[in-house]
Amino acid sequence: MHFSLIKFLNFLKLDLIKQENSLNLIASENYSSLTSIIYSSSYIVNKYTEGYPLNRYYSGCKFFDFIENKTIFESQTLFNSLFSNVQPHSGAQANSAAIQSLINLKDKILSLDLKSGGHLTHGFSKNFSGKCYNIVNYLLDKNNFLSNKNLELIIKNEKPRLLILGYSSYQGIIDWEYLRKLSLKNNFLILSDISHISGLISSGLIFNPINFSDIVTSTTHKTLRGIKGGIILSNNKKYFKKINSSVFPGQQGGCIPNFISGKFFSFKECNNFNFINYTKQILINSKIMLKTFIFRGYNSILNFTNNHMFLISLKKITNSIYFEKYLEKIGILVNKNFLPNDDSSSINPSGFRIGLSCLTTRKFKNDDVELVANYICDVIEKKINFVKINVRILCKIFPIYK
Ligand code: PLP
Repeated sequence: MHFSLIKFLNFLKLDLIKQENSLNLIASENYSSLTSIIYSSSYIVNKYTEGYPLNRYYSGCKFFDFIENKTIFESQTLFNSLFSNVQPHSGAQANSAAIQSLINLKDKILSLDLKSGGHLTHGFSKNFSGKCYNIVNYLLDKNNFLSNKNLELIIKNEKPRLLILGYSSYQGIIDWEYLRKLSLKNNFLILSDISHISGLISSGLIFNPINFSDIVTSTTHKTLRGIKGGIILSNNKKYFKKINSSVFPGQQGGCIPNFISGKFFSFKECNNFNFINYTKQILINSKIMLKTFIFRGYNSILNFTNNHMFLISLKKITNSIYFEKYLEKIGILVNKNFLPNDDSSSINPSGFRIGLSCLTTRKFKNDDVELVANYICDVIEKKINFVKINVRILCKIFPIYK
């Protein structure tokens, strides 16, 4: 028993060492600040907090009421929203509650195909969304753009009740203003899942869709750099009450109070000038890295990126499973990923996804990320001699937690 506890603690330590010794390019990850981590592990975890501030199902919540209200306020400030629910345990749960607030079971949802950058919770057949709703997918056009014209056509033919915008791997631009006009004209609702780009939106670097959507959902741990979890935002008064009741009791019992206090610190850090500079650097790093891949002869789905991530094709170059595993061995983390209209299997998709949130948190700048892109190209081209040692050196120069 004693031995296994030591082993367990050792694994926690080993994971931190692995984080410090890896260059993490996984687009959905980031590093929370020590403050957020510390305050998401507080004694408040002991409290049961079903319900909402001043309206709980257990007594003794008065201090947590204050904490939840402050967290709501910070998230509203961050996204200029009139309403926020900070209780969802995850992005998936936020999406489930949001969809439940907007439409009825079996209603038609129009969402981007999973292989083109959509998310499981937007209608994948094995997810609640695919099982409970009538899903029609849209695709990117033949040049890998999200085409308003294509969307307009499919909307006219399919007459969906809900359009989902916001993706897991799209590097282009979403024309929210145009699509909002279309939704008013054609009587469908818009759910914007900004999970990946919420940090860039909160800094004003990407268009904020809050006034062009009925509901906005996000994770809190990607570009937003917070503690893991979800949030739901809206400026449409019609949905405020519905969202709250879809989260509790619709989705969950008690929220996780320590994680809500962690979210407070994360949001507070984003409401700060340093965070704006951080997100500006993410965009610079992402563009430089993509340019380096293109310069070395590799293809992305678009030859630009508008956010923290992009896809690189490995078609006819190498096997993406082997590549991902090999990179991990030398200390670089990426994830294999579908390319739009990919006909390969989900286990062995044709490309990989790169995201710059983590390296930018470690203070990597222009030349540093160019170097990392060149190391990855060297690995693909089997010029691997010094890559592992160079990765270690970079990790030492740019620690995550000093
Ligand atoms: N929505 C999008 C667009 C995502 O990319 C993700 C996760 O990567 C989620 C929702 C789900 O978030 P979670 O893993 O917290 O459930």
